[in-house]
Amino acid sequence: MSDKERFDDTDFREVVPEDGKLTAGQGSGKDSEEDYTSKENIRASDGSSGDPESGKAAEGEEGHQDDNEYEDICYICHRPESKAGAMIKISNGICICSDCMQKTFDSMNHMGFPTGDMSSFGNMPNISMINLSDLQNMNMLPKSQKLKKKKAKEEKKEKPKLDIKSIPAPHKIKASLDEYVVGQEYAKKVMAVAVYNHYKRVACDTQDGVEIEKSNMLMVGPTGSGKTYMVRTLARLLDVPLAIADATSLTEAGYIGDDIESVVSKLLAAADNDVERAEHGIIFIDEIDKIAKKKNTNQRDVSGESVQQGMLKLLEGAEIEVPVGANSKNAMVPLATVNTQNILFICGGAFPDLEVIIKERLNKKSSMGFHADLKDKYDKEENIMHRVEVEDIRKYGMIPEFLGRLPIVFALDALSEDMLVRILTEPKNAIVKQYQKLLAMDEVKLSFEEEALRAIAKRAKEKDVGARALRSIIEEFMLDIMYEIPKDDNIGAVSITKEYIEKTGGPLIRMRG
Ligand code: ADP
Repeated sequence: MSDKERFDDTDFREVVPEDGKLTAGQGSGKDSEEDYTSKENIRASDGSSGDPESGKAAEGEEGHQDDNEYEDICYICHRPESKAGAMIKISNGICICSDCMQKTFDSMNHMGFPTGDMSSFGNMPNISMINLSDLQNMNMLPKSQKLKKKKAKEEKKEKPKLDIKSIPAPHKIKASLDEYVVGQEYAKKVMAVAVYNHYKRVACDTQDGVEIEKSNMLMVGPTGSGKTYMVRTLARLLDVPLAIADATSLTEAGYIGDDIESVVSKLLAAADNDVERAEHGIIFIDEIDKIAKKKNTNQRDVSGESVQQGMLKLLEGAEIEVPVGANSKNAMVPLATVNTQNILFICGGAFPDLEVIIKERLNKKSSMGFHADLKDKYDKEENIMHRVEVEDIRKYGMIPEFLGRLPIVFALDALSEDMLVRILTEPKNAIVKQYQKLLAMDEVKLSFEEEALRAIAKRAKEKDVGARALRSIIEEFMLDIMYEIPKDDNIGAVSITKEYIEKTGGPLIRMRG
């Protein structure tokens, strides 16, 4: 194939090279490698059916369909087709926007090279500027750096992504959460209503001038109380993309650490680079208390107050330019514009010592006048966090503008021993159920005595990291069981006893028959 022919062949990039070997592209991300192998597989299976021609055609079509959903990106300026306009396709699926092409010609003109039409382009002596020959083996950008096209407006009207009728009512959202999350009744209720309102807001129009405000949330709860777990469960139930970010790694732009906007980039990746899907997603920012304003500092607070300031426009809703398939913006990465207007932001934090501030406020209120209370009245109240108010969090070090953009503030319960026992057994994917399923595959029935579960919960409670300790404790003593039981085919049932947990005895083992 001559250069000219190759140039004219617009479908060239869909064709798999003759030897069937596809280079994984310069990004060589895992995704792209998988993609290519699957392409090869299709070809191999088609080939064996005895009709190599039709096999090739089918594959081409599939690739085409897949590619149709993604935008072309200019190889030089990295702008997507939707921004830079129609692309000029060079060989191997490399595209260049007309602006960049023009600039290239202009600069060549300037240097006194003769310009011609596109077909003579390949013969120019100075064409190494774009390194066409080097690009032979560089296939298209890895899939993780391609942008999915936005759907046409008319299509959107016919098929709204979030149909108001399909948003489950709050009681249904809570009922689904109940299957996975133990306790936390108040938090589940608040979340269900907030999410319901949020997606209603997304679906409604603002023509009558009444614009519903965003229901971004702030969750306060001790570590391991299920903050992340609840958000994760919610996103899965609603089938929306979710990005989980840690506020501790964020810094003001230009300093070492992740840019604040990287959270949106993560969401875009979670939505498979589909901007439209990402714009309806959820972003959970954990450890938000770590970006509280530092007290008594005269240095620039790049990871505290500045991060809060930087997050304001994200929370409010803004058009953010984010790198596609990478964490930071650089010359090699294409950019996408994501509007955060309809993204639900949920912030979570443990806020240690917040109860001191709450108690102080409550005491101040009740120590005045004739009905003054005793000073230690609130010391014994277990879930004092439930009395949290925006004022307390502001005192903790969050700036008022930031809190103003998180109108829903609520607290989670600290997990009690009873709740820990329930977490072990009740949720749909409870740890105990998981082990029972594993042993059932060996036809062994696993059971836990009530007392044993309580002993595990007690040990977990002592560790003070909430439900997170449960798995490590259970894994520690299940190791021997999982190792020994499959050795002996005669074992039919195992019962974990309190003595085994307390290391004063062993489990009860029953033989078959
Ligand atoms: P954090 O509040 O620190 O974000 P996580 O959400 O990470 O805590 O909780 C850790 C683990 O504990 C979760 O993966 C989940 O399995 C379990 N867990 C915590 N709270 C609950 C709960 N209320 N119901 C069921 N499981 C829970």
